[in-house]
This record gives sequence, C-alpha cells and structure tokens, in this order.
Amino acid sequence: MSQPVVTRFAPSPTGFLHIGGARTALFNWLYARGRGGKFLLRIEDTDRARSTPEATAAILQGMAWLGLDHDGEVVSQFEGAARHAEVAHQLLAEGKAYKCFSTQDEIAAFREAAKAEGKSTLFHSPWRDTPESEHPDAPFAIRIKAPKDGETTIRDEVQGDVTIKNAQLDDMILLRSDGTPVYMLAVVVDDHDMGVTHVIRGDDHLMNAARQMMIYEAMGWDVPVYAHIPLIHGSDGKKLSKRHGALGAQEYQAMGYPAAGMRNYLARLGWSHGDDEFFSDTQAKEWFDLSGIGKSPARFDTKKLENLCGQHIAIAEDAALRQEIEAYLEAAGQPALSDVQSQGLERAMFCLKDRAKTFPELLEKAHFVLTSRPLDRDAKAEKALDSVSLGILGELTPHLQNASWSRDELEAALNEFAAAKDTKFGKLAGPLRAVLAGRAVTPSVFDMMICLGREETLARLKDVTG
Ligand code: GLU
Repeated sequence: MSQPVVTRFAPSPTGFLHIGGARTALFNWLYARGRGGKFLLRIEDTDRARSTPEATAAILQGMAWLGLDHDGEVVSQFEGAARHAEVAHQLLAEGKAYKCFSTQDEIAAFREAAKAEGKSTLFHSPWRDTPESEHPDAPFAIRIKAPKDGETTIRDEVQGDVTIKNAQLDDMILLRSDGTPVYMLAVVVDDHDMGVTHVIRGDDHLMNAARQMMIYEAMGWDVPVYAHIPLIHGSDGKKLSKRHGALGAQEYQAMGYPAAGMRNYLARLGWSHGDDEFFSDTQAKEWFDLSGIGKSPARFDTKKLENLCGQHIAIAEDAALRQEIEAYLEAAGQPALSDVQSQGLERAMFCLKDRAKTFPELLEKAHFVLTSRPLDRDAKAEKALDSVSLGILGELTPHLQNASWSRDELEAALNEFAAAKDTKFGKLAGPLRAVLAGRAVTPSVFDMMICLGREETLARLKDVTG
C-alpha cells in the first residue's frame, strides 16, 4: 500500500494571507483531502524580528474564511529550534558537517576581494578539512559538507527535472555561531518530523530545494515529492502587486466574494481539469492533481472570479448564504442585520441569488426586504411615481385586496388589471418597484409581493396612494 499523503502549508507570519499563499494552501488542501491524506499547518516564525502574532492570527482567519481546515495542532517552527540544532549536531558528529570558525568580517572581506577580482563570491570555508586538534577555542557555525562536484537534480512535478551543478552551492550554514538554526535546516527537519510527503509551494523556493535535498541526503531521509508552482501575475502579466488591486485573501471577503467562489477561482488559477471552470469542492478534491498545474504564471482575472462567484451564489443553500452574508457584513465593518432583517433576507433569497456576483450586489436587490416603512426612495424611484402612476396604483389596491397570494395568481391579477387599463404590465412595473422597494433595481414585482405578504404590500401601496 502506498504511503498516506501528508501536505502542509508553511507561511511566514509577516503579514496578511496573500492571495498567492491562499492558493498554495488550497492546492495542498485539495491534494491531501482528495486522497484521504492530512493537511498540516506550520507557522514559519523563526525570523523573530519580522514575525508577529497579529500576522499569524490573520493567516488563520484567512484560512478559516476559505474553509481550509488543517489537521492537528498549528506547528510553530520557532518552538522546534532545539530539535533543529540537534540535527545539526548529529551531522557534525557523523562528519557530514563541520565547525567553521570564519567570522562574518572574514567572510565579508573574502566576498569583497572576490568581487573586485571578478571571481566567484561563493565562500569556501578553510575549516572544512581542518582537524579538530587545530580548532581554536572560539565561537563557530556548523556548516554542511556539501558535495563539491557532481550534480543535484530536483525532480519536480511541475517544473520537470531541474539540475544544478553542486559546485554552484556552498557549504551552507546549518547552525549559526549563536546556536540558532537557519531557516533552511528548520524547514527540512520539520517537514521530515511532520511526515510531509508532498511539498507544494511557490517556485520562488525551487532553488532552496537543491540545498534542502543536501540535508535530506546527509540525514538519510526520504526527499518529499516537490511541486513548485508558478507565481500569480496581474492581468497585465506582471508580478501581482498592490497596483493590481487587493492582495489579501480577506480583502476579498470584505469585498463580498463568497468563499466557495473564491476557492473555485483560486483552484483554476494555475491548475486546470480539461475545460471545467465551474465546479464544487467535491469535484475539485476528486480532480486535483499535480499534473494539471501549469508551468507558466497564471493571471489574476477579476471578471472570471466574479463570474464563478455568481454561479456559486446561485446554487448555494439559502440559510448558508444568509450566514455567509452576515459574516461578510461583519468583515466589511457594516452594521449587523436585525433578526427581522435576517429572516426576511433568508425568505427572499430565492429571488435574490440568481444574478448577484457579489454580496453587495445581492444586498442591493435585497433592499426591499431589509428596509421598513416608511420607505426611503432613491431619485429614480421617486421619478417613477408621477401623478398618472399614482392614480393607477390607487385603483390597483382593491384588486390586490381580493387576490389570492400566490405568484401565478398575482401575475394573472396584475396582467388583467393592466389590460383593463389598456396598458401593459411593464408600464406598471416601474411604479410598483418604487412603491415596494423604493429602488429601481429589484427582484421581480411578484417575487417581492410574495416575500412581503399581502398586508405589507398593501401598506406600502397605501403609503404612496394615501
Ligand atoms: N515560509 C515560506 C514562505 O512563506 C514557505 C516555505 C516552504 O513552503 O517550504 O514563503
């Protein structure tokens, strides 16, 4: 039986959850969840100066919004420092690493001289083969004894085989002279100890893989499957930056995009399954594979995102949608709905969710059910209520008093009334929207009447006709 899949997301907590990070997390999540595997979360907080608890909280919130649940506890990389140091010392004891007494100043002076002479600045420590008996009593760093010649090939599931000449790599420091482990060592030890089988991450880490493989090999550990995914670009093909719009995953929540739509869109950003654009989580988990990841950078396309979001809103379950909208309002810093509004919104959902691409769009159409009498009317609605329309609406009232309150019956009653007035229902629709919603953009007049009920509908009519 093959080994169970274990993936991980390993963000550095230096800011919000970037849209690229969210996609990396999603790919790892889909890969594990589609294979009955585990998806782990490790916060790479070794850089104490740049890591903040607020950033960790923002990453966790962003993942929670996107529904990317992880298995087990959140691992703090910093807390594993002693274990990372232990591995460096083990390699030292086994002769696979050595003590380097070169100081920062010496290394900097070497680099400067090499640069001036136009030579390689790759530092070759003079301590690599110095016998222990000649070691000074001074602080030292632990460096790995990297192979001097030959090649290292990263077998990458996305990039293919990437081969690097070992002569291009130096004897990387594992443990600094102050005893702190370097990031590169921490990643390998953590991935090994956490049982990670697949490393799916941004291709800005591709070259790190060659160095990390050296540590795996020195320790005799299995190298994980690597998949380095191209970064996300803006619609102009340039690296994604603030100038392209929002970068933080949670900014998309605050703009009113549903999480399911965002997941669908992010999954399609750099990965494809035939021509499928719109799909469910279940399908994504079933279909997601490393072979479907493209080699060239994906371009962020807000139109496509909105299109998918609209489709996800349309198929969402009413109660779940209402809950997500309430969470959106909170994230956007807008007032919460009252109980009455919340119930009204859910009741009206059937006629709201069909053509809204975002929650603000949906809420605009929901105005009729969220507002209460006396209605405020926008300019367009006000204009629709001229004296002729008001007269007709006045005559309509008794017909509605007697109509039975179903969509079909209301439609029949209104058409009949319009015909008797020698007009078309379309002519009545504008004034009725103004009366029922105080807005020009609304769901259908009949749907609004059904949601509001007879009493409220007549009361709103009476408010304008007197
Ligand atoms: N902490 C790294 C980052 O945020 C990821 C390292 C990895 O996935 O191996 O870019």
